[in-house]
Amino acid sequence: GGATDGGGEGGDVRLTGISKTYGSFTAVHPLDLTVPQGSFFALLGASGCGKTTTLRMIAGLEEPSSGTVHLGDQDVTRLPPYKRPVNTVFQSYALFPHLDIFENVAFGLRRRGIRSVRGQVEEMLDLVQLGEQARKKPHQLSGGQQQRVAVARALINHPRVLLLDEPLGALDLKLRRRMQLELKRIQTEVGITFVHVTHDQEEAMTMADTVAVMNAGRVEQLGAPSDLYENPRTTFVANFLGTSNFIEAEVDGRRGGDLVLKAGGGALVLPEGRCGAPAATGGKVLAGVRPEKVSLTHADDAGSVPDGRNRLTGTIADASFLGVSTQYVVDSAVCPRFAVYAQNVERDPRLVPGAEVVLHWNPAHTFALDAAQS
Ligand code: ATP
Repeated sequence: GGATDGGGEGGDVRLTGISKTYGSFTAVHPLDLTVPQGSFFALLGASGCGKTTTLRMIAGLEEPSSGTVHLGDQDVTRLPPYKRPVNTVFQSYALFPHLDIFENVAFGLRRRGIRSVRGQVEEMLDLVQLGEQARKKPHQLSGGQQQRVAVARALINHPRVLLLDEPLGALDLKLRRRMQLELKRIQTEVGITFVHVTHDQEEAMTMADTVAVMNAGRVEQLGAPSDLYENPRTTFVANFLGTSNFIEAEVDGRRGGDLVLKAGGGALVLPEGRCGAPAATGGKVLAGVRPEKVSLTHADDAGSVPDGRNRLTGTIADASFLGVSTQYVVDSAVCPRFAVYAQNVERDPRLVPGAEVVLHWNPAHTFALDAAQS
């Protein structure tokens, strides 16, 4: 944006010290958050973490206990919802049952006294691919189609920001997956900022450019999906987005910029840039690695494991064959229930419960949690 719309550096949505308390209970702790203009932003967290309350404070449906809300350059903290340049799509989208799809979408324009609505409504119906359904009533559409009408209805007044509060929550899994891609396409096409609330990590990762992971009224970590997955900073984030193996280790020294860690009897390398807080020799580190990054080699073939891999030894406790992949649980001295997801490309028939194995992976896939947290 240009200098006048203020959507650039300051972000489209800027929360400063925003919090919400109910009596002695704090639903949202003072929070600073900037949502870049034109991005698809997800607030992700388990039920009760404060994500809906945060969204409702942006919408003006909930009054913050402290802090300010800016939309672009405008301080909207004291503005009622209808004066804010935002619109919200809810899970229960409540279309007007007696109006057809065209009139449902046209509603926001007519209420503002605009009389020639056809062009804009048709454009919106095309955007959500419901041009053919204009004269149907809501009950004649599927759940996914109805939700698309709700999106069109919310976009027709060109809000600066579209807020989405678990909009896909009522849909079955298959439809939900389709609608995730559909919403992402719509967002890319209209180019306005979407702020989406969900408890579904896959949904957040599918759609959003940036995800804020919330836990107990706080943002634990904010980043691109791949960044959160590859560099989780807390055990909560590491576990909420997929499965992680954690290894308690001690700093043994440095090799170049890399940290060398002592874990049980073995050594692990934590590459430069993955170290989190700088750690002194003797300091404790909680290292982690994702299950799909790890390979399993039978102990009899340990010599075939290439040099330079991080490695641990253990015993297979469980092996679940899942067709494409096999999920192993390995008991290792430094990580009692180490998970490994192996593609069944060249499955070694000796890898059964009770087998002694070497777990090994590229050191680049090792991450470390913040010292204060671990
Ligand atoms: P969900 O996905 O279940 O909606 P959420 O992460 O969106 O969860 P919020 O709805 O933001 O969570 O609620 C955060 C916390 O604040 C919850 O513990 C909730 O019980 C509490 N809370 C919300 N509204 C009120 C209220 N009006 N009075 C008291 N407590 C409230």
